[in-house]
Amino acid sequence: MSHTCESIVVHCMDFRLQTYINQWLEANLGKASYDRAVMAGGVFDVYDVIRQVDISARLHGISKVILINHEDCGMYGLGATEEHHEEDLREAEEKIRRIFPYLEVDTYYLSLSGVFEKKS
Ligand SMILES: [Zn+2]
Repeated sequence: MSHTCESIVVHCMDFRLQTYINQWLEANLGKASYDRAVMAGGVFDVYDVIRQVDISARLHGISKVILINHEDCGMYGLGATEEHHEEDLREAEEKIRRIFPYLEVDTYYLSLSGVFEKKS
């Protein structure tokens, strides 16, 4: 029997953000309608992200990718600005859309206080 879901959500492993992310996912996507890839640094290593998206697309027929980077991410180190994250998110979106043109991609920047800012 095949099983499908709508989206894959990619976000950082950082423990400080998990409660915010869980609440946001439940409010915005509901329960059990998405795959979840927890990657250190979010889109920091875009090729790891692409690999997860590929598997999710093949196994579960997703139509959407949700990428979440966050403030004060240890993988980016000190001094990583919101603009830096925005640029990485944009780059990841472009790469994913080039390989999977049928997938919708949304990107978000999450502050340490739990505010999600939609970037694309
Ligand atoms: Zn992080």
